[in-house]
Amino acid sequence: MKRIACLAAVTIIGATLAAVSNEAQQARHAIRPLELAGNLYVLTSDPAEQGMRTGGNTAVFLTSDGVVLVDTKYQGYGEDILAQVRQITDMPVTTIINTHTHYDHSGANPEFPDTVNIVTHENTAAHMASSDCDDGMGYEGGSIKNCERFQGENARFLPDETFSTRHTLFSGADQIDLYYFGRGHTDGDTFVVFKEARTVHTGDMFARKRLPFIDAANTNGSATEFGATIRKAVDGIPDVDAIITGHADDPHVWQDLVDFAGFYNDLLLQAHQGRAAGRSAAEIAASYAQPDRYSEFEAPTGTLQRIVSLMLEGR
Ligand SMILES: [Zn+2]
Repeated sequence: MKRIACLAAVTIIGATLAAVSNEAQQARHAIRPLELAGNLYVLTSDPAEQGMRTGGNTAVFLTSDGVVLVDTKYQGYGEDILAQVRQITDMPVTTIINTHTHYDHSGANPEFPDTVNIVTHENTAAHMASSDCDDGMGYEGGSIKNCERFQGENARFLPDETFSTRHTLFSGADQIDLYYFGRGHTDGDTFVVFKEARTVHTGDMFARKRLPFIDAANTNGSATEFGATIRKAVDGIPDVDAIITGHADDPHVWQDLVDFAGFYNDLLLQAHQGRAAGRSAAEIAASYAQPDRYSEFEAPTGTLQRIVSLMLEGR
């Protein structure tokens, strides 16, 4: 009797798990591949769909030794990414670079062979490895943190190679330059430059024509330092024409990043002037004067106020 009850329970749990994984399967969104250069592709989401869809954009870069991926989308997309890679080349994935720790950019890291060399900024590696799992946002409304994916057995999927300010991988046509300019979206955002293709993957440091999300609470991002960091990127990254952003479906151009840096730094200036005049974050946001040359940028009052509040607190 007891055994039958036990079996029944196992069956129910099994059926439930199958249903859950089936749901996850069905919930996966389509990946759209775009060729940017002979050896560089980006795996975006379907522009006809709304929301976060597959997560961050994944760059696929072919070197003479193997495939380099930049970012791995959400947990569950490893197989889909590999299927896309196989459409492009027979070479194995040998390197993964994560632009930052967030779960929509590194979620599928553990779904690749553990022989893959994983490269991140040192602060990103620390977030992934932290025992208190401080990388914040995660699955199921945050109850499952992304860094839990790198604990125990899965510690073998933590970054193998880290850097602090500049780092170069490979040479000649394969060269990739990694840049870190300081705190912004998180405290470990890497700009990944494919030298020959004159293309950069900015991760979430570039929010196109919007205000950026500043993850100050979980990953030590900084609204105050974001302005200087993005300005340093504009001044410090040479010879780039095309941009893969963290989430946009289509590639952007260098001037878009220059404009974004100008838009953000103008806001920072207005926040400083407002503070000097003794105004609150709400007052500064309400009286924000969007310059004509940035009129295409979206600056909803709620988001403005959140960012200005952080600026006033020096965060
Ligand atoms: Zn992010």
